[in-house]
Amino acid sequence: MLLDRENSGDFLLARHRLAGAWFICMSTYVPVIGLEVHCQLKTHTKIFSPDPYLYGAPANTQAGPVTLGLPGVLPTLNEEVLRLAIMAGLALDCEIAEITKFDRKHYFYPDLPKGYQISQYDMPYAVNGAVRFLKKGQSEPVTIRVHRIHMEEDAGKLLHSQGGGDPVSYVDLNRAGVPLLEIVSEPDLRSSEDAYLYLQTLRNILRYIDVTDGNMEEGSLRCDANVSIRKGPDAPFGTRVEIKNLNSFKAVRAAIDYEIERQADVLDSGGKVIQSTVLWDADRRVTRLMRTKEDAEDYRYFPDPDLTPFHIDRKVVRDIEKNMPELPDAKRDRYMRDYNLPEYDATVLTREKEVAHYFESVCEICGDAKKASNWVKDEVLGVINKEDISIEHFKVTADRLGEMIRILNDGRITSRMAKQIFEHMYAEDMDPQDVIEKYDYKPVDASDLPAIVAKVIADNPDPVQKILNGNDRVKGFLVGQIMKATRGQAPPDEVNRVIDEKLKELQ
Ligand code: ADP
Ligand code: MG
Repeated sequence: MLLDRENSGDFLLARHRLAGAWFICMSTYVPVIGLEVHCQLKTHTKIFSPDPYLYGAPANTQAGPVTLGLPGVLPTLNEEVLRLAIMAGLALDCEIAEITKFDRKHYFYPDLPKGYQISQYDMPYAVNGAVRFLKKGQSEPVTIRVHRIHMEEDAGKLLHSQGGGDPVSYVDLNRAGVPLLEIVSEPDLRSSEDAYLYLQTLRNILRYIDVTDGNMEEGSLRCDANVSIRKGPDAPFGTRVEIKNLNSFKAVRAAIDYEIERQADVLDSGGKVIQSTVLWDADRRVTRLMRTKEDAEDYRYFPDPDLTPFHIDRKVVRDIEKNMPELPDAKRDRYMRDYNLPEYDATVLTREKEVAHYFESVCEICGDAKKASNWVKDEVLGVINKEDISIEHFKVTADRLGEMIRILNDGRITSRMAKQIFEHMYAEDMDPQDVIEKYDYKPVDASDLPAIVAKVIADNPDPVQKILNGNDRVKGFLVGQIMKATRGQAPPDEVNRVIDEKLKELQ
């Protein structure tokens, strides 16, 4: 390829491609990834105090004496935190510990008023779980082991301002003491795609059981990714780098890919990866060094003397298990059984609780599971994902879609019309019947079709001759003309049948 050196953009692109090719030749590295996910539990009050917590409340209005660590006050575990934590543990297939305890993790930073965070160190309340997800085109799910889950309190938030004079930092302690679960995976993930699917699945499960909002942008779900690379699938693990500040699904994917390439470059040029913590810079799309690795000793963990170790009663665990809402996998199996849906359809429809709920409502109204499934997974999810809206606020409500499918199944409109009606319902926030009336959708009467086809044939002698000479592909052109003449309202099967009939007469 000739390079136009005047055009530096192309030149850079070409260099980049060469570098990419070089990377592929040189590197046969296999990434190893483990995620540490923090999720905020949906309780009314904090983990060790009756302070309320509402996202977006004015700064420092939700931080009482326990949160502030004032002398003379003691933490008490919020029972609702334990209940939600056990639910999450069970939903992630974990063993729930018989005895658990809280520990103090020390670090000095203004977002932590006590000078230590109450967390769990060597006796987490849940261990040995698993998360499973199905990758497109594979029949067996991937299993990612969950190493442990522990409960801990969140820290406050710092706000740094450069505006005008001297730089100032503000601290807002509202978030301090908010209950968190930290879910630590084993290093079982092998690509950024795996990490993305694991995180999605985890979020969906936690939202199904309603223990968290799982909103990455608002910080109720946060993810740190540990990334290393090694020479081959059986080589020993490489040195890992922990990436923080990943506040969207996109960031998780991009940061992991960036870090894999960066480490490959380091190794290829004879260097060594240094165990460290880095921050993802979403604007510049690079990772930046934050600190070289701290060890557990640096935190001076010790059991919190204010909170003694405690038993988790088996009866409590059994009761929670008995009252557990249906989880995505169980729902998927039920859809395959009761609605007779293929596994892929059932998986897509049950990934998110709200989508499953929408689908079930559509189904109930139209009574046609297969059609409801096709419409929801192709059309509805298509728009929702593209426009990034939630299905609860989708203008084509389940009632409207169900009604439209019923009209379609009654033969009052064709599927082609249905697609257009769906678009009108969405764009104009209308009921299907109103769209049909406004735009005068009615199927072309079958008895009108022969006359229309005859006219199109008479108007297009050349294409017709080609078809008669054996070039069957030209038939599509005629179908197109008929659709045009009927504003897309003729039933396609019927059109094809009538064309064949007329052409036969000409042979
Ligand atoms: P800590 O952060 O307290 O040192 P661990 O060492 O147990 O905790 O690991 C934290 C996370 O790092 C886990 O999610 C684990 O799966 C992941 N991890 C451990 N070793 C590696 C590695 N070599 N490459 C990538 N991830 C790793
Ligand atoms: Mg860690």
